[in-house]
Amino acid sequence: MGTDFSKKGIGTKFIHAGVEPDASTGAIMTPIYQTSTYVQQAPGVNKGYEYARSQNPTRFALEAAFAAIENGKYGLAFSSGVAATDAVIKLLSPGDEVIAANDMYGGTYRLFTKVFERFGIKFIYVDTTNVANIAKAITPQTKLIWIETPTNPLMNITDIAAVAAIAKPANAILCVDNTFASPYLQNPLDLGADIVMHSATKYLGGHSDVIQGCLIMNDTELRDKLYFIQKSCGAVPGPQDCFLVLRGIKTLHVRMQRHCENGEKIAHYLQSHPKVAKVWWCGFTDNPGYEVAKKQMRGFGGMMSFELKDGSPENTNRVLSSTKVFALAESLGGVESLINHPATMTHASIPREERIKNGLSDSLIRLSVGIEDVEDLIEDLETAIG
Ligand SMILES: *Cc1c(COP(=O)(O)O)cnc(C)c1O
Repeated sequence: MGTDFSKKGIGTKFIHAGVEPDASTGAIMTPIYQTSTYVQQAPGVNKGYEYARSQNPTRFALEAAFAAIENGKYGLAFSSGVAATDAVIKLLSPGDEVIAANDMYGGTYRLFTKVFERFGIKFIYVDTTNVANIAKAITPQTKLIWIETPTNPLMNITDIAAVAAIAKPANAILCVDNTFASPYLQNPLDLGADIVMHSATKYLGGHSDVIQGCLIMNDTELRDKLYFIQKSCGAVPGPQDCFLVLRGIKTLHVRMQRHCENGEKIAHYLQSHPKVAKVWWCGFTDNPGYEVAKKQMRGFGGMMSFELKDGSPENTNRVLSSTKVFALAESLGGVESLINHPATMTHASIPREERIKNGLSDSLIRLSVGIEDVEDLIEDLETAIG
């Protein structure tokens, strides 16, 4: 093993995490091992690599990087964020209960309600911003608590340490979807969570060119169970995709610094705009989750949502379709800025009544603020809002 980077600064850690010079050539970057199988010396006599669904050196380097950037012992890579979520739910059995946030990524909600409910797993949705709601929902069948903070798209904040304090005595696994914050802003394992999940498609990859997910954990037994599910169910990413995310992680801290700077400027610009009714961003001091966000995050990021005073479908659609630098697209966390309409795009899989009840209106507009020059981004919004 090379140098231990775990005690170094966050930037040093992100750049060196998981990558060792290639043993055969000294290549500084882990090569893309584009292979499905490995030649054995005799049956069962091999170098620890047998078949690429179970072992791949590029993936292993990435998995070590995932562990390092979340201050965890183990990382596991999956072919998408939802595949990583899917693996966590496969730890459960029929009759088990999951307490989940009532405001979370639409694809997670769809996976829970449309796929796993059919297998006899029960999901109880509560407002996790009030931790007492979780405590009240716990039963002897509760095996997993699933939270997302900040949430997509309303930027609600849940106190991770407070939920961990409830999960432990109940013997429930606490899994945190840390996609929005990224490991640059928040490390749930340090706050007592058992599993961190990421859609690596977003900030970790960072360049809108790959779909991938990951899980990070400290407990060896939990790692072994999840590794077994990873190889048995087979939702593993290919080596090309692993390489892209490994490369993305090296600039995560620099990108996040700029996402945070641009995010702060745009949130304040929108909030002072006469045609904007409300802005949801976790860095505003009057945001209900501000104190908790300040405590558990190192910054506030570049994700935000807003509503126009004229929130009619015509006006909302006009703004959504008229930006030139912000591209109208699903996804987030890439270097380029995106604008999105959650009600019809990212969150269309949540029934309308459910959505409205949780505060996600038809007129909500979500921004993933990229790392372009902020003046150009503000000018773009200024022209579009009109
Ligand atoms: C995108 C996203 C996911 C799903 O990840 P995929 O890589 O698209 O499968 C899960 N959670 C959050 C918060 C997301 O933004």
